[in-house]
Amino acid sequence: MNIAQLVVRAGRSYASQPALFQGDRLLCNYGKLATCVARLAGGLRARGLTAGERVALIMKNCPQYVELLFACWHAGLVVVPVNAKLHPKEFRYVLEHSGARGCFVTTELAEAVEGISGELPDVAWVEDVSGEAYRRLTEAEPAEAAAVNPTDTAWLFYTSGTTGRPKGAMLSHRNLLTMSMSYFIDVDSIAPSDCIVHAAPMSHGSGLYVLPHVAAAAAHVLPDSGGFEPEEILALIRNHSGVSFFAAPTMVTRLMAHPQVASADMTNLKTIIYGGGPMYLEDCKRAIAVFGNRLAQIYGQGESPMTITALGKHHFANSRHPRYNGRLGSVGVPHTAVEVVVVDQDGRSLPAGVTGEVLVRGDSVMSGYWRDPEASAETLKGGWLHSGDMASFDEDGFLTLKDRSKDVIISGGTNIYPREVEEVLLTDPRLFEVAVIGRKHADWGEEVVAFVVTKPGRQIERAELDALCLEHIARFKRPKDYYFIDALPKNNYGKVLKIELRRMLADNEVAS
Ligand code: AMP
Repeated sequence: MNIAQLVVRAGRSYASQPALFQGDRLLCNYGKLATCVARLAGGLRARGLTAGERVALIMKNCPQYVELLFACWHAGLVVVPVNAKLHPKEFRYVLEHSGARGCFVTTELAEAVEGISGELPDVAWVEDVSGEAYRRLTEAEPAEAAAVNPTDTAWLFYTSGTTGRPKGAMLSHRNLLTMSMSYFIDVDSIAPSDCIVHAAPMSHGSGLYVLPHVAAAAAHVLPDSGGFEPEEILALIRNHSGVSFFAAPTMVTRLMAHPQVASADMTNLKTIIYGGGPMYLEDCKRAIAVFGNRLAQIYGQGESPMTITALGKHHFANSRHPRYNGRLGSVGVPHTAVEVVVVDQDGRSLPAGVTGEVLVRGDSVMSGYWRDPEASAETLKGGWLHSGDMASFDEDGFLTLKDRSKDVIISGGTNIYPREVEEVLLTDPRLFEVAVIGRKHADWGEEVVAFVVTKPGRQIERAELDALCLEHIARFKRPKDYYFIDALPKNNYGKVLKIELRRMLADNEVAS
């Protein structure tokens, strides 16, 4: 089935349900959205685009994002959402690598993208979605939704590239449908009267959430700021009903730190879905205290979007369980639609309690990386997605992530998982954030060091951090040095860039 059928169905059966809001302002209902999508698709085909060709979206979050995702699918095209915060050189890389035939932009990015596209002969046009040409496209003759094979690529999902060049995970119509249905089984229910606030980038996390919310004919709310501003989020929660939003853990901590949160009216907040990076146990407990039982966690990656494991609301609610803390520190249980195993270096399945690499198999897993057969073969070896994440199951099947395999520290031949050390350090309430990495050591190979950011106006001594570690973890895991810095380097998705911390160390840019 063409995934665009989700909006066709919502337009027919839920025509009068609100579909798109800009802030508090209703823009259109599902009947209108479905018509707009069919017309845009007709307009794109009239431009000569044929099935399987790529169209890039280099846009800040905006209502047209929803229209264009579905319009491209409706026309049988492949959509290539690109993070709007990337550098123009990175835009160029994705445009060229994907072989995009056209590109939609929001006004503030138009100049930068037009500058690049001149050098890329494949890109026939760059179009501002606030312009007259776009408006005319929305008035084109409507097209029927294209017939597609379930395995046809719908979304080229460029990974966030924390370790190197971004790769384009090919997500098919079937992958996206599986992902959407899994949301209802494993994450949360959605009613037509609910809405999702798109505060995280729609090129990535939040864009995926468009699908189950269209399937349920729930509304999409686009913040006027185009991003994540705690005050604005609190106002949107007040003014809309059944509000959910996806947030990286760093966004949840920013929201909790906002002075207005304590007195905010949370009645209309339904669910904060967090994921994309580790949420430390201490932060998780604080979030429960602030938001109540309104949290759900997902663990996924571009290669199996949203769908590896989930920690649902019912897990959060089960606070009497003897292993409650362990569960909160985990990423939950495998999604219904996928098989998840933890294996050793030889690919042998490991028992509960033993750490190895997470492998995933099922209908949400990508078919490969675009124009990269080598990386595809390696990542999908033996028909399993090799996630590159190290983790262990407990006896109830809850998966606890340790680290990316590339971030594991090997000191004197022993594996040290930075996450374990970070969890301990963060129990001190004076710390805002920490990152633990390996520093080259002549005898041991690597030794543990920590980058530490204190809360504003707070101080902490190295000796106190040492004492904390000695109280909770083995001596060899204790950081041998602490680097106090103002903020951890993060990429545009809010993920901590350990690669950058390693570079800072190598270039002697920091002193302990
Ligand atoms: P991306 O493909 O850019 O979304 O990055 C996926 C990676 O983010 C995963 O392979 C994990 O390393 C990390 N990640 C995703 N979700 C979680 C989570 N809930 N907890 C910890 N790390 C996560």
